[in-house]
Amino acid sequence: MKKARGETQSEASNRIVNAMTVDVEDYFHVSVFDGLIPRNRWEHLESRVVANTERLLQLFDEAGVRGTFFVLSWVAERHGDLVRRIASLGHEVASHGYAHRLVYDQTPRAFRDDVRRAKRTLEDAGGTAVLGYRAPSYSITPRSLWALDVLIEEGYSYDASIFPIRHDRYGIPVSARHPFVIERPAGRLVEVPASTARVGMLNLPIGGGGYFRILPYGWTRWGIGRVNEREHRPAVFYLHPWEIDPDQPRLPAGRLGVFRHYRNLQRTAARLGRLLRDFEFAPLERVLAMEPVAQTVREIGVPLPYLW
Ligand SMILES: [Zn+2]
Repeated sequence: MKKARGETQSEASNRIVNAMTVDVEDYFHVSVFDGLIPRNRWEHLESRVVANTERLLQLFDEAGVRGTFFVLSWVAERHGDLVRRIASLGHEVASHGYAHRLVYDQTPRAFRDDVRRAKRTLEDAGGTAVLGYRAPSYSITPRSLWALDVLIEEGYSYDASIFPIRHDRYGIPVSARHPFVIERPAGRLVEVPASTARVGMLNLPIGGGGYFRILPYGWTRWGIGRVNEREHRPAVFYLHPWEIDPDQPRLPAGRLGVFRHYRNLQRTAARLGRLLRDFEFAPLERVLAMEPVAQTVREIGVPLPYLW
């Protein structure tokens, strides 16, 4: 294990191994552009996902870090070589679904078709079993919990789609903050929530994406440190290849969308380098194997105001 400056070896070896995860999609797949960029235009836009993902692979390689890549299968169908390369470098290949449709906007049947096609495409391309799924924009919420049954029936063993915070597009603020087993009518599934720091009555998002890119780096370092040191639990960090690409074409979006998508793109690669030095990371499946998932939940308690 890496030893940080000023740290004794025993402190270093007590450091928690966090999960590094990447949602592999192009800049135009992002939900911010839903409705602005019709899906039939995707094919005609400049694709930057391969180069950006290669750059991430390079940064991870330099830091000796391996992670989990939740690959959008729309990308995998067009760039099978990229999936093979991710797998051959020792990273975990997992599923981000096929068409980047929000789960709660789909029927159960359409969702089943999407995740089935995604799993098959990725397993054919990468040559390894796909165990995990992460929904576009964390869109498993109180109104789409049925999706967990579909994932179990389609052979997934973990899901990483529930964000236990309040947000305009996603979130189940009352859901557990650390990995747990959920028992559903269809069977059992490990649920891996996006990471939060608990402060008073609040869950604060500290594990990546826009929160990593838009807020100062100290926010993420504080949050992951707090989860590791106070709770002795791993954090689950996530980002997207387009987040390290300041030269991506500018697409039209509302003011909030523009802020969320384009803010600090030029800073994120260097920031990621710091993060990779400051904490230990491994693929999610390895973190789950090291971490006994003790808590079993039969129902995600959802108070009535959240059942919209
Ligand atoms: Zn996504």
